[in-house]
Amino acid sequence: MSDLTNLSLAEAAKGLEKKEFSSLEITKAHIEQIEKLDDGLNCYITRTPEIALKQAAESDKRRASGKAGYLEGCPIGIKDLFCTDGVQTTAASKILEGFKPQYESTVTAKLFADGAVMLGKLNLDEFAMGSSNTTSAYGNVISPWKRNDGSNADLTPGGSSGGSAAAVSARLCLAATGTDTGGSIRQPAAFCGIAGIKPTYGRVSRWGVVAFASSLDQAGSFGRNLEDAAMLLKSMSGFDPKDSTCADKPVPDFAAALKQSPKGLKVGIPKEYRVEGMPKEIEDIWQKGIDWLKAEGAEIVDVSLPHTKYGLPVYYIIAPAECSSNLARYDGVRYGLRVDGKDLNETYEKTRAAGFGDEVKRRIMVGSYVLSAGYYDAYYIKAQKVRRLILNDFLEAYKQCDVILAPSTPSAAFAIGENEDDPIKMYLNDVFTVTVNLAGLPGLSVPAGINEQGLPLGLQLIGRPWDEETIIRAGGAIERAANFTAIPSLLKAKKAA
Ligand code: GLN
Repeated sequence: MSDLTNLSLAEAAKGLEKKEFSSLEITKAHIEQIEKLDDGLNCYITRTPEIALKQAAESDKRRASGKAGYLEGCPIGIKDLFCTDGVQTTAASKILEGFKPQYESTVTAKLFADGAVMLGKLNLDEFAMGSSNTTSAYGNVISPWKRNDGSNADLTPGGSSGGSAAAVSARLCLAATGTDTGGSIRQPAAFCGIAGIKPTYGRVSRWGVVAFASSLDQAGSFGRNLEDAAMLLKSMSGFDPKDSTCADKPVPDFAAALKQSPKGLKVGIPKEYRVEGMPKEIEDIWQKGIDWLKAEGAEIVDVSLPHTKYGLPVYYIIAPAECSSNLARYDGVRYGLRVDGKDLNETYEKTRAAGFGDEVKRRIMVGSYVLSAGYYDAYYIKAQKVRRLILNDFLEAYKQCDVILAPSTPSAAFAIGENEDDPIKMYLNDVFTVTVNLAGLPGLSVPAGINEQGLPLGLQLIGRPWDEETIIRAGGAIERAANFTAIPSLLKAKKAA
């Protein structure tokens, strides 16, 4: 039965429709795969096999009565940042240990309404702050990929949605939800050799998603290919009156865009993304992407995004500022952990000292600092002004092109523990992704190749606001040309054994 875990989401949906297998069968196959591999990978913080089996049985009944939804019977994973009714939701923080929401996030409600089955809640960096999954209070996720140099070092799956990306890559679910505040879908997708889509800000409701930086947070999807990611995204998207930033726009059939050739598309290449010290393998894969699109009839144009260099400093002012405000609610009174002190203030202090990890504390401190009376204008307001200039750069570029092609990350996956000595080193990972969030644009990462060490490399496509279809269209051309068939080392090892 384990073959069922190798199906794509689209194939699984078709197989279920044709009644080649039942939802119970494909769900059980995934539960077995989780039992076999996840003790080593740590993708799931909470496994929910009972819920999955119950949902699968209900799904099979619905199917039998002719009422199948868009994702009917397909087992997926949910990043543990989405509130799930009655199921522990931790945001990978100790402060939320044991927190069982009394309501369903809009995204999970939509997925369930379409017939999806939940296998469990996926690990992430604490409150989605990080690029390596090492800030999780529940232990870091291990990538199913290894370097081929015999070193056997455990690699990071990327972050913050590392559990989601590693689980999709290791066949521990057909597809998974993620969130992307500064790259948390695109970077782990690139590191794990899968597809990830971060839609336009406002495309997907944030209601019931634990907040990190509200003006940047956006939910999106992971799949082993773009079609799967596009399908999941369609189910997640759409207007929600419960989130005032969620736009009332029709949701296109994102996957249909894959059928269109990129012929005639103008693809912008931003010269500022050729950053100093960029590894040759990244430069090379980018050039390949350019050549593939050109060969398919796209027109390549040079564009300039002059404020790119301010992306990281601006992001690392705005994101911590919003985080310090959002995380004020964790006070030991309303949610999760509580450490009693002699009075209310000491209870707050002790709870927050014990409940938050180092990275979260660092961000709360930086955020409080840049918002404080004396520094607000110098840092926060200035950052907001530069944020506008970053958006203007993109809008200017889109006068000359329809879509922008760039690397997803400045390197392939690194080993767990690397880049930990200095927070700035970790922040540099986000150099190609944060500006997209600052501008609220849609972006995706598609697997484009394998480096000399046998690790996946991703390419990023960035679109105009609300134009997910064009990035999917261009991404599809790259996907076809790259013909990425590599499977993670862990699965190869299992196959051989
Ligand atoms: N790595 C970035 C950060 O640490 C982005 C995280 C995210 O997108 N959630 O903030």
